[in-house]
Amino acid sequence: MKDHLQTKDWGLGLKGHVIIAGPCSAETPEQIEKVCLDMKKENMIPDIFRAGIWKPRTRPGSFEGIGEEGLTWMEIVRNHLNIPITTEVGNAAHVELALKHKVDVLWIGARTTVNPFAVQEIADALRGVDIPVMVKNPMNPDLQLWIGALERLHDVGIHKLAAIHRGFSDSYDKRFRNKPNWSMPIHLKREWKGMEVINDPSHIVGNREGLLETAQRAINFGLDGLMIETHHDPDNAWSDAKQQVTPAQLKQLLSQIDFKDTLGSENPSERLNDLRAAVDHMDDQLLDLLQERFSMIDQIGAYKREHHLTVFQADRWKFVMESRTEKGVSKNLSEKFMKELLYCIHEESVKRQEKQLREAAAIKK
Ligand code: PEP
Ligand code: MN
Repeated sequence: MKDHLQTKDWGLGLKGHVIIAGPCSAETPEQIEKVCLDMKKENMIPDIFRAGIWKPRTRPGSFEGIGEEGLTWMEIVRNHLNIPITTEVGNAAHVELALKHKVDVLWIGARTTVNPFAVQEIADALRGVDIPVMVKNPMNPDLQLWIGALERLHDVGIHKLAAIHRGFSDSYDKRFRNKPNWSMPIHLKREWKGMEVINDPSHIVGNREGLLETAQRAINFGLDGLMIETHHDPDNAWSDAKQQVTPAQLKQLLSQIDFKDTLGSENPSERLNDLRAAVDHMDDQLLDLLQERFSMIDQIGAYKREHHLTVFQADRWKFVMESRTEKGVSKNLSEKFMKELLYCIHEESVKRQEKQLREAAAIKK
């Protein structure tokens, strides 16, 4: 098991969920100051202040970030808020400059995580440096690529890691700018124990209206914090104007979220233990049933083989899908879940029967 320091151990004095806020991009010293002053006025001081210095834009010509000069403005944040600062790095030169200007936490953006060469270049530039790094998910829903980027950093000695779920590019789903895929962060947390995942509803939703719902879902799923783009004058922001909120709106948003306790290492209550024991028992029963079902499937396979029938029978499949889905829906299971479950079971059945056919053919030879 890889060792990994949770954000709570990063020396930031965090207790609950980590809140990261600040503008999409650093624009001018006045802008940084105004955001800080408004945060102060609203008593809405995040745990970490974010600001993009180098902006990976889809097409050239739009604002590509203010560059190194912006890093000198981070002093303004330190003076007003006295909190750590984070910015995105996309190559070794960015790392060098960010370290020179004492940025406290780095993050790797979605467009960089997809590229192992770039991630390795960043990791190499960080060898021997003790700085926390957050890795956004890649643009495409590829968990291994996400884990791979975290591993590249871990392998050079960066152990203060976190991941950021910012959704996945999906041009067909117009509800989101980047569609969330909640199973990804959950899988990540399962595969890499102790890995904290922060949610970035701003880039998932792409507007202000949907932030609350997505942020709440992230907390419900057990994610460990939120990164929300915050600007004193969002409509006139130089990048991502539609999705940024003011510090006052951020405060309002956070006050509406029901932050749950992640159980962490504390002892789950007796009631929870009882419920979990019941679920364990049911899972055993489910597995016994599945085992029995597949043994029937094998018998059907033997019959098909004897009678020279194909493994896949379209009419039967259609009937099974429709009748079971209908039954499942009437039992309050979602249609999507029923279809995925049935596909999964059917695929395994077909594979088993086809294997039987192959084995029988091999014996004949
Ligand atoms: C950002 O955080 O401003 C950003 C560019 O994010 P992403 O890499 O998620 O697109
Ligand atoms: Mn942005």
